Amino acid sequence: MKVPFLDLKLQYENIKDGIDRAITGVINNSAFIGGEYVKKFEEDFSKYIGISNCISCGNGTDALIIALKTMGIGKGDEVLIPAMSFIATAEAVTAAGAKVVFVDVDEKHNLIDPGKIEEKITSNTKAIIPVHIYGRPAAMDWILEIAKKYHLKVLEDAAQAHGARYKGKMTGTTGDVACFSFYPGKNLGAYGDGGAIVTSNEVLARKMKMYANHGRITKYDHEFEGINSRLDGLQAAILSVKLKYLDDWNKNRNRIAHEYMDKLQHVKGIDIPDKDVDAFSVFHLFVIRTEHRNALLEHLKSKGISTGIHYPIALPFLKAYQHLDHKETDFPVAAKNQHRVLSLPIFPEITENQIDYVVHAIRDFKS
Ligand SMILES: *Cc1c(COP(=O)(O)O)cnc(C)c1O
Repeated sequence: MKVPFLDLKLQYENIKDGIDRAITGVINNSAFIGGEYVKKFEEDFSKYIGISNCISCGNGTDALIIALKTMGIGKGDEVLIPAMSFIATAEAVTAAGAKVVFVDVDEKHNLIDPGKIEEKITSNTKAIIPVHIYGRPAAMDWILEIAKKYHLKVLEDAAQAHGARYKGKMTGTTGDVACFSFYPGKNLGAYGDGGAIVTSNEVLARKMKMYANHGRITKYDHEFEGINSRLDGLQAAILSVKLKYLDDWNKNRNRIAHEYMDKLQHVKGIDIPDKDVDAFSVFHLFVIRTEHRNALLEHLKSKGISTGIHYPIALPFLKAYQHLDHKETDFPVAAKNQHRVLSLPIFPEITENQIDYVVHAIRDFKS
């Protein structure tokens, strides 16, 4: 049996009529940049998240850069981010002109460890970017409490967590701003690049919208210099179609993850994430931890099962951050987890047979 890591072709086949109609509509209306489909998606997404403003842009990395820049974070400022994330979280801080300061993560979920945030705060610290990694919400109430105490901005990196909830609240509604990616493989993915920022701050929203579009609102009234980072009409139309399915897809991901947890909980040498407490995780990824990660990966590969590693090198130890001179002992949990994490196949369309096949293959593994 073959078990892919995810199957976007199958997803497309299930929603083909709506997608094809949306694409034809955009082309027939020549609504390629800006226009009604982009406006509609921004309305749809802000309604879905339950927040007053959605500013679409070219990708999730840009969303973070636009947010930081328009919030006035730049030269001389320090921004705290978790040691385990995709590099975009760190890149955005540098691109804005600020300094990246890594905070170690928790053992089970690779979320920023709130207990280790305060020791990293200096007089230059301006913001925290919690990453809701793998689709699990970070401990927002604790993080917000620290942010309030030290007057820090909170930017949620929700690139992997569309629709996740924490203590009943939608991810992206509790920080000052939240950034989303619509990279094809994300829980809500376009057929190309795409991103968005959500915020309830009207003044900031206007500035972000302008910054992402050459510092203008109408055609040639550039109030300041911005950049060109826009969601295009085709992606917007596709995303509006897909958004209608997001809750069902997320429910499926959550159910599949809990099935994996039930079936793997007593397997020796395999550590699984916790079940949701006070949260609804949307399991962009289902990540187990094991001492024999590489051998298990090869074993699963030999059985036709595709897996991933998120991430094989924690951010502080990447060559890109060599100049910061970090040691493994600075981030002991991230240093350990980078060798142990393994992402199992999870996508809404995965079948019971495929899940069982993966579970059995893991149980059969002899290290
Ligand atoms: C995907 C991702 C991003 C960047 O999004 P792009 O759309 O690929 O630029 C940022 N942060 C995290 C945690 C991501 O997973």
